[in-house]
Amino acid sequence: MTETSEFFNPELETLNREQIEELQIERLKNTIQHCLHSAFYKQRFKEAGLEPEDIKTLDDLRKIPFTTKQDLRDNYPFGLASIPLNECVRLHSSSGTTGNPTVILHSRKDLDEWANAVARCLWMVGCRPSDVFQNTSGYGMFTGGLGFQYGAEKLGMLTVPAAAGNTKRQLKFFTDFGTTVVHAIPSYATRIFEVMQANGIDPRHDTKLRTLVIGAEPHSEEQRRRIENMLGVKAYNSFGMSEMCGPGVAFECKEQNGMHIWEDYYIVEIVNPDTLEPVPDGEIGEMVLTTLNREAMPLLRYRTRDLTRILPGECPCGRHHKRIDRMKGRSDDMIVLRGVNIFPIQIEQVLMRYKELGSNYLITLQTNEVNDSMTVEVELSQTYTGGPDAQQALTKSITSNLHDEILLTPFVKLLQPGSLAQSEGKAVRVKDLRKVY
Ligand code: ADP
Ligand code: ZN
Repeated sequence: MTETSEFFNPELETLNREQIEELQIERLKNTIQHCLHSAFYKQRFKEAGLEPEDIKTLDDLRKIPFTTKQDLRDNYPFGLASIPLNECVRLHSSSGTTGNPTVILHSRKDLDEWANAVARCLWMVGCRPSDVFQNTSGYGMFTGGLGFQYGAEKLGMLTVPAAAGNTKRQLKFFTDFGTTVVHAIPSYATRIFEVMQANGIDPRHDTKLRTLVIGAEPHSEEQRRRIENMLGVKAYNSFGMSEMCGPGVAFECKEQNGMHIWEDYYIVEIVNPDTLEPVPDGEIGEMVLTTLNREAMPLLRYRTRDLTRILPGECPCGRHHKRIDRMKGRSDDMIVLRGVNIFPIQIEQVLMRYKELGSNYLITLQTNEVNDSMTVEVELSQTYTGGPDAQQALTKSITSNLHDEILLTPFVKLLQPGSLAQSEGKAVRVKDLRKVY
């Protein structure tokens, strides 16, 4: 690996389709054998009347029942462990808003492979040992902290584990340490810019920022372009989830046209969330992932609840690992209002087209006397100077464009910059106050 090589791991990154599939079937067979050490999968296979020998081809994967988040909760905390606990060296746990949280166990090898995956992603977007990498993720159970930390160290960058919050201090680190690469969730990237503006910092002249890695929450293409323009960086979409380790599952290459999902680590399927049948490439469905090299807690056909599609066609970058489209949201993010299905990201797409608007918005759903309604509150941009008439015209235009996108007419409210609450972690975009009858 030299500074000028395009690949962190040329052998694995440039496999052709046939080689990828050969490796996948070999790793899948090993994974199945290994899974059967867990009480959970032993039982699952027994119930399904399935033997490891029944899986001979990649198509046979479909014989295996899905694993769900509920399975992880029901077997909390260690029911899916495939190695003895004394061989595990770390666990991560995701939020657990309803019922038990989920726990993911890692062996030393798992952590090492995870770091390799993240290093591969960062290398792909041009990060090199000469870079200074600042991570604004919380370091704790949230995998964006330690996940990026070990990946960036593996690559050899000078790392700044700034962790979440204290934006002024983040800015001081940018300038004092010459930070060139930042990892931030998209809502925090816009916050960074707001604080820069308030403190008279021009990112293009006063910092060396060049690359931004954004992920962990849904964001539109419009939001990405806006963040790139604000900060004067290239921003790359990063997909990960705790159940699959964390960051490093899928990542955009320099083409910025879909995220390569590392198929030596995962088998990706896209299924119709209702029928659970596979959908053709190019069609949106729920992403289902099977881990191929995990030791402590492999997962077979895990239903991520994330909606995306496989982008058909080849990527010019020379990697044949499939690309997934930016996430449309989770199936449970979908708003059903007066019989119409809406994803928050559709609203974001419309709002982000207006340079008069800032990046913070909140969708509130309410029950009124007659029916349910949606209110979209959005902050004006810090540089906006329009008076009442201009604001009225702007509100009208936004309302009409939202109507064209979601086929309902929401109430649109313009707010002064900084009015909406900022959440510590992932942005909260929807408040559902509807009465349930
Ligand atoms: P939690 O379930 O507590 O949010 P995670 O931190 O594991 O736990 O979050 C993983 C989820 O975050 C994914 O399932 C997906 O919904 C979302 N996510 C991660 N990366 C992206 C991304 N690049 N774009 C959109 N959503 C993302
Ligand atoms: Zn590519």
